[in-house]
Amino acid sequence: MSHPVDASRRPENHRPLVIAYHSVSSTWSSTLAVSEHQLREQLRYLKGRGYQGFTFTGAENARRDDTLPERSVVVTFDDGYASTMLAAPIMEEFDYPGTVFVVTDFVESGDTLAWAGITDWQRPETIDELRPLSWNDAALLVERGWEIGSHTATHPLLTRVDDRRLQDELVRSRAVIRDRLGSCTSLAYPYGQADDRVADATRAAGYEVACMLTFAHIADEPMRRPRVGLGTRDHGVRLTVQVSALGQAARRSRIARLARAMHFRRTWLPSD
Ligand SMILES: [Zn+2]
Repeated sequence: MSHPVDASRRPENHRPLVIAYHSVSSTWSSTLAVSEHQLREQLRYLKGRGYQGFTFTGAENARRDDTLPERSVVVTFDDGYASTMLAAPIMEEFDYPGTVFVVTDFVESGDTLAWAGITDWQRPETIDELRPLSWNDAALLVERGWEIGSHTATHPLLTRVDDRRLQDELVRSRAVIRDRLGSCTSLAYPYGQADDRVADATRAAGYEVACMLTFAHIADEPMRRPRVGLGTRDHGVRLTVQVSALGQAARRSRIARLARAMHFRRTWLPSD
C-alpha cells in the first residue's frame, strides 16, 4: 500500500499490516464473523507472501526500535467472542500470534455480549455466538503467545461519552486485565473510533498503543494506529460515522480513494 510522503519517517521504518477480525464462526451469518476456512485461507495468503506475525504491542515496539521487517502482520480480534479460541490453532499453523481486545465487564460477568450493533443477534438461534471469552480462555491464549488488550469495560462509542465515563472505561478495563493476566498495554477503540480527546485520555490511562478501525487511514500515531477490517462491515455506528462531515473529508483523501477502489474489487489486502 502506498502512503503519503512523511519527511519525519525514515524509509527503513516499516509499518505493520494490522488486520481486524471479530468472531470466528462458520455458523453465524453476521458480517462480524469469519469462518475457520476463510481465516485459514487469508492467513495462508499472508504467510505465502512472507508476512511475519507480531502481537500489536510487539509490532509497535519493533517499529519504535526500527526492527520491524518489511512485511509484518498483526492479526487482531475485537470484542472477545468465545469463538476467538477457534482461531488459536489456525494461527499456530502459520506461526502467527494473535491479539484479542476484550470488553472486561463481560469477561467478568460471563454475560453474553450486548451493545448497539450486536443486540439484534440476541435471539435464541444466535445467542450462543455472543458468548464471551473467559479469563481462563484469555490466560490460555497468553500462554500460546497471544496479547490480551482492552476494548474498554462496556463497549461505548468513546467519542460520545463524558470525560468521567471515558476515564472509567479506559482505566478500569486496563486494571482488571493487569490484575487477571499481569499486563495490558494496548487498546482497540469500540467501533474503531477515537478523536483527539479520546486518544489523549488513552495515553494518560497508561496504554502504549491503541488502534482504530476506519475506512480511511488518515491518523497514524501510537494512540491511533489504523487497521484493515477483514470479512466485516463492522458495527451499526459505522454508517453514522461515514456520513459525518469528518468522514466525508477523510474519504476524499488519496488513501481513502485507494481503499474504496480496493473494496469495490473485493480485495481485502492493500496492494503493494
Ligand atoms: Zn467492538
